[in-house]
This record gives sequence, structure tokens and C-alpha cells, in this order.
Amino acid sequence: MSDDLEPVEDFRRRARAWIQANLGPVQPWDLDQNCENDAEELKAVARDRALQRKLHDAGFAGLCFPKEYGGQGLTPAHHRAFCEELAGHEFPSRFAVPTFSPCASIILECGTAEQKARHLPAILRGDEVWSQLLSEPGGGSDVAGATTSAVRDPATGDWIINGSKVWTSRAWWADWGLILARTNWNVPKHQGLTVFMVPLQQPSIEIRRIERLNGESEACEEFFTDVRVPDSDRMSEIDGGWTVGQRWMYHERVGHNSPWVLRPVGLKQNESKEPTLVAVARRAGRLDDPAARELIGEGQALKIVTHELQRRLASAAASGAGNTDLSSIDRLFRGLAGVRQATIALELAGGQAAAWSEEEEADTGSQGMRYLMRQVTCIGGGTTEIARNVIAERVLGMPREPSGDKGVPFRDVPRGPSRKT
Ligand SMILES: Cc1cc2nc3c(=O)[nH]c(=O)nc-3n(C[C@H](O)[C@H](O)[C@H](O)COP(=O)(O)OP(=O)(O)OC[C@H]3O[C@@H](n4cnc5c(N)ncnc54)[C@H](O)[C@@H]3O)c2cc1C
Repeated sequence: MSDDLEPVEDFRRRARAWIQANLGPVQPWDLDQNCENDAEELKAVARDRALQRKLHDAGFAGLCFPKEYGGQGLTPAHHRAFCEELAGHEFPSRFAVPTFSPCASIILECGTAEQKARHLPAILRGDEVWSQLLSEPGGGSDVAGATTSAVRDPATGDWIINGSKVWTSRAWWADWGLILARTNWNVPKHQGLTVFMVPLQQPSIEIRRIERLNGESEACEEFFTDVRVPDSDRMSEIDGGWTVGQRWMYHERVGHNSPWVLRPVGLKQNESKEPTLVAVARRAGRLDDPAARELIGEGQALKIVTHELQRRLASAAASGAGNTDLSSIDRLFRGLAGVRQATIALELAGGQAAAWSEEEEADTGSQGMRYLMRQVTCIGGGTTEIARNVIAERVLGMPREPSGDKGVPFRDVPRGPSRKT
């Protein structure tokens, strides 16, 4: 650490004083990210923009971002101290993922000097919210199999994008998107991709909402019809987008656990509130039931292990030690632990998971709905199956799974009906 930097414990004290004086208690829409309706959601977005601005004006935005882009130039240890002090307080949760990670992290690592100077200060000020456009109707796991195309207009040098993306979280209110598009069909799939930055709210992009099982519709699908993008908004080398794509996947897997993302961390987080599983068991009248106590213990153990695993992987990443693909272990464990936590809560709630009052929902959430949606934790941010593949092949060095498209020009790779060009 540079001698000029404020010692972490001094910084922690300063951060604590500011947080306690300036930030209110954590809000329900920060924790589960769901609002009752669109008007409430847009209100939460506006609040988060204002909160991000407040952090910025107080000198607490972008703690690990370089000062030249409006950040504070501090270390992951300062960031962690701030996030620990943030526990129990409101924070700009809608900026966390995907705006700060993977989008801002990728812009910082791979953007041109002009792109960084234009977008990073704007994100840190709360002026720009970003989305990531990777998944396509033909499949999301095979990210490098993107068929959304970008063709150069020889007259202007602009790029013209056509195609569609799907499952894009919150595109309906985001300002900008990072998009992976195919620029060359005559080379193997990883060699013909390019990354662009696109303003999302424009007439050439039709954004539709997708309603999920639980009634939420924050996921969107986008249809691009001759979307014109200046070459200055191209982020990678032409056809060299997979170099950016690999870093993108890494930041995607790290997600909320990244030193670029501001969010409360630590086991103290819900100290002011009874732990959810205890509250669920209490409501079900099962606090004295030894089987219920075992379930609560299992849930707590999972929480501790998740926390410690993330801490260990984060410090390995920050020190440069360890393979970046280790992030897949955290991604896999988070998915499995999320499913198990939802199952434990359902088992504790018993029949009460079938119906609930508004008051109960505000207090501990609905365990029935949580159970129905449990698989989301194994899909969003890349599936746990793909994480297992990455761990097997790139962490444990096991043989790669067979691939029919290796070395084959993408044009000749067989595709299903939705993936035809
Ligand atoms: C909450 C949430 C938020 C999301 N946000 C975004 C977003 O903002 N932007 C975005 O672009 N996408 C987003 N997604 C989409 C997500 O990235 C994809 O759903 C995911 O990558 C899987 O793609 P798919 O649904 O098309 O399934 P497919 O790729 O069609 O896969 C179907 C099943 O086959 C398995 N499978 C596929 N290939 C293999 C293989 N080689 N080995 C073993 N198993 C395999 C998969 O694991 C999966 O179980 C989001 C998804 C969720 C649930």
C-alpha cells in the first residue's frame, strides 16, 4: 500500500461517522430488489441515482477507481471496510450489478481513454446506469455463439447492429448497454466477436418486458433494427471481442463480491433484525422443535461458509494470487447455497409457506415464493452447470468437454431455428 494512503482503520472511522450521519436504514427494495409496481421501481431508481451522487459528493464513490476518473484511488481493504460499515444502511443497490460489475469494471480494464473519461465519472456521479447484453434467444450459456450482428457502414465507418438479446436485467430503465456482437462469420466463433457500447433508450431498439413466475418483470428482451453505433463506441479490437468477453465473464461471476461494487457485507448485516430463519420458525411455532433448530443451524453454517469463501477468494484475487477462474467456485457455491437456504426456509415455514399476509411478506418475505424462484440463483450470472465445467477444465485441469465447433467457421456451425443468420 502506498505510504500516502489513509490507513484503513482511520478511513473506517471516517466512513462510519459519515454513513451514520448521512444514510438512513436499509430499505426493503435494497434487499430483495423487488418493487410493487413500475412507479415504485422508478422511484427506487431515482433514489439510487441521488444516493450515488451523495456518495460521490462526499468523496466516497468509486473507492477503488482511479482518481483521474472520479474515484478515490484506494485499495480493496478500504473498500471492504466501507462495505462493512454500510451494513444496515441504505445504499444505491441498483448501481451494484451490472452497472459497477461487470460494466464499469470492463470499461476501466478494456475501454479506450476517451470511453473511460466519458463514462466512469458519469457512473460514479449517478448519471448513468448500465445493462449487459449477452444472452440471446438461441441460448445464453454459449456466450461466444452470439448471432446479433454488427456490420460496418463503409460510408461513415459506423456500425449497424441487428438481432436480439434476452433476459437483460432492467434494460427498460437503463441508460447504456454493453453488447457482444458478431462482426465476422467466416472465422471460428471466438474470433469474430466485437464489443460495443450502446445507448439503450432509442427508437431503433425495441425493449419488451418479460413477466416471471413471481409477477416481476425486470428482465427484458431487446430487438435491434439497424442500430447505428459510431466506431468511437467500439470497445474491443474488431473481431477481438472475446479478449474483453473473457474478462467480462470473470467480472460477471465475481458479481456482488467485486471490489468495484458497493454493497453492505459481513455477518453483522442484519444485526438489528432477527435472522430470517429464526423469524420463520418462530412464526411457525417451531422454535423448540429440535428438527427446526437443526435446519436453522444448517442455514447459519451455510451463511458463514459463503461469507468466508467469498472473503478468501476476494483476497486471493486482490493479491493477484490464484487463478481468476477460482471465481467459479464462489459462483457455484452461491447458487447451491441459495437453493438450499430457500428449501430450509420452506421446510421451516411448513403450511405457512402456502399463504402469507402483507405484513409477513414485509418482515421475512414469502417462503413459498422464494422456494418457487430458488433456481434463479443457479442461472443468473451464468449457470452453475457452466461454473462446474469451468472448475473442472480450468481449475482442476480435467479434459475439456468435446466441442463440435472448434476451428469451424461460425457460418458453418449448425444452429437451431432461432440462431440462423
Ligand atoms: C435473474 C437473472 C438475471 C439475468 N440477467 C441477465 C443480463 O442482465 N444479461 C444477460 O445477457 N443475461 C442475463 N441473464 C441470462 C442468463 O445469463 C442465462 O439465463 C444463462 O446464461 C443461461 O442461458 P439460457 O437461459 O439461455 O440457457 P441455455 O444456455 O439454453 O442452457 C440451458 C441449460 O443447459 C445447461 N447447459 C448449457 N450448456 C451446457 C454445457 N456446455 N455443459 C453443461 N450444461 C450446459 C445450462 O446450464 C442450462 O441448465 C439473467 C438470468 C437470470 C435468471
